[in-house]
Formats: sequence, structure tokens, C-alpha cells
Amino acid sequence: MKQPSSSWHAPEPFQQRVLTWYDQHGRKHLPWQQERSAYRVWVSEIMLQQTQVSTVIPYFERFMDRFPTVNDLASAPVDAVLHLWTGLGYYARARNLHACARTVVNEHGGEFPSNIEALISLPGIGRSTAGAIASMAFHVRAPILDGNVKRVLARLHAVEGWPGSTQTQNLLWQIADHYTPTERVRDYTQVMMDLGATLCTRNKPKCPQCPVQDLCAAHALGTPTEWPHRKPKVEKPIKAAWLLMLQLPDQRCYLTQRPPTGLWGGLWCFPEFSTSNALDDWLVRQGYAPEQREDWNTFRHTFSHFHLDITPVHLRISKTVSVQEQGQWVQPLLDEALGLAAPTKRLLEKLCL
Ligand code: SF4
Repeated sequence: MKQPSSSWHAPEPFQQRVLTWYDQHGRKHLPWQQERSAYRVWVSEIMLQQTQVSTVIPYFERFMDRFPTVNDLASAPVDAVLHLWTGLGYYARARNLHACARTVVNEHGGEFPSNIEALISLPGIGRSTAGAIASMAFHVRAPILDGNVKRVLARLHAVEGWPGSTQTQNLLWQIADHYTPTERVRDYTQVMMDLGATLCTRNKPKCPQCPVQDLCAAHALGTPTEWPHRKPKVEKPIKAAWLLMLQLPDQRCYLTQRPPTGLWGGLWCFPEFSTSNALDDWLVRQGYAPEQREDWNTFRHTFSHFHLDITPVHLRISKTVSVQEQGQWVQPLLDEALGLAAPTKRLLEKLCL
């Protein structure tokens, strides 16, 4: 699997081609490319992990309206951050974002460091995000290796192996480092992302328009979509959960805050039961008859490591009860300040219909 570096191209012609392409076709009007501070680059990079640009733009703009500086973010309650993240998924990113903002304020005087090691030591910042911040905000020569760049480089050299494996990842980092220039490193970082996002796409790469087509091993082999190699397939396990939707005559519903780590960490959700019987037991203990429950259709919510089959259970009650600590009664549509898990948000909307 290890490729000899002698098979790599000289960096300068590669850099020249992609930078010329950037001047003509690169994206230059994304919101985070305006007033490009370390703070804005960082927030955009975290939001863009696992998420497409078109989805991120409105989230980014709302986020910047609400938290224009790292100090604003650090002084906000984490709930306010999670609330603005509702629907973006991968909520650990939002919690890390908040923790990182506090570290930047408390330990770096509100200024992001510009060197890679210091950036990587911050919560939620990995090597690629650190490279993006250093290169785009501080013009420091630093490679990046996000999903788009991995795809371009894996195809450029027909790199064998799954990029999630340490061996393949290390090789891709070496290739990324090899081609990263000293001059115009900000534009280079952007163009590598752009190439992956707009030309060298997962399923339909536009090789005839690609500035490095004649250097590309996957193109020469005629099978670009075979790279990067897929993750060895592992079936995701299926778990089940019952969500209890207690509702008062005035429409208010009961939500509890999840523990800070783990599934939907820190978000507000309906009380969860791991079995239908456990939910019935709770109902009986509270003096309700299990027959009063109204089960809605089960639906599947897929996480990165498993599927969760969720059965929402609706119960109309006449007065408040306490289900768990950290709970509160909320109006389904009026509450603006809570971070909600996506299924909770959808169910609350349905409860208003
Ligand atoms: S030639 Fe095709 S496969 Fe190779 S880098 Fe360009 S777009 Fe990707």
C-alpha cells in the first residue's frame, strides 16, 4: 500500500494548475470568506464537517448574527449554542465549539493561536481544521485533509486502502504536505476544498474540466469513483427507544435535558425508555393506565454507529408530574432558547398540528 514518493509529481506544476483554476473558477463569495478572521474560519470549518456548504450557509449566518466574536460565544450559555445548532447534527461539535471558545478567551486572551500545535490542543480542533485556520486566517503553510481533499489526493495517486485507516491516512497526509505551497497558501487551501466539492465529486467527477487531469492516476485508470476505497462494510446495529410525550391541556410538553456527553448530549428531548414495558411501569407508578398511551408509528433515526428505532408515545395528562431531574414544561412552538435533538423538534411540531 505504501507508495514511493518518487511517483508523486513535483509540487510546483500541481500548485500552479490548481491556483490558476482557482483564479478563474474558485469560490470566493462564501460568507466565511468575507472578513476572514480565525474565528469565522474556525466556526465554518466545524460546521462544514460532515455537512454541505448549502446547508451550512444559513446556520453560519445566524450563528454570526448571534455570536459575532469568540467572546460573545464564550459568554453564552451552552444551551443557546445548541439551539442554533438544532438540525445540523453531530452535536458534540457544538459543545466542543463552546468549550473551545472559552479556552480561547480564558487561556489565549480571546485570540486564536496561529501555530498548528497550539490550535490542535484546543477542544474539537483536529489537524485538518487546525491547518485550515492556520493557512486561511494566518497564511501559515499547513496542509489540510478534510473529506474533499482526501478524495482528490486519493484519486490523484490512486491511493489504496480506506482513508479512515491509520496507514492510509498517514500516507494521504504526506501527499497533502508534499503539495502544499508556501506562497498563496490560503488560496491553495480553498482551491483544494473547491476541487473536491465542485469537480472531483464523489459519484460524478468532472474530469474533462479538471486542471490536474493529466496528472491523475485514477483518471488514467478510467475508474476515478473507485477512489477513495470504501470503508469495509460493517452492519450497523439496530437499537430501540420509546419517547414519552406528556402533554398538558394547555399544550405544554415535558422535555428533559440529556447528560452533557453521549447521545444527544446536552440537548432537550422527551423522556426516553429503553423498553415499552419500562414505560408502562412508569405510567402505572404515576397512576395512569397503560391503555391511555397512544403509540405513534415507529420511525428510524440513523446515527453514525447505529440505527435507532423510535416509537413516540403520546399521553395527555391533566396536571404536571415530575419525570426526571433536569426537566421542564415547554410550549411546543414558542420556546426559542433550547437545543433540541432533530427528532424531538419534529415531534414537537407534530404535537402542534
Ligand atoms: S481528473 Fe477526475 S478524478 Fe482526477 S482529480 Fe480531477 S476530477 Fe478528480
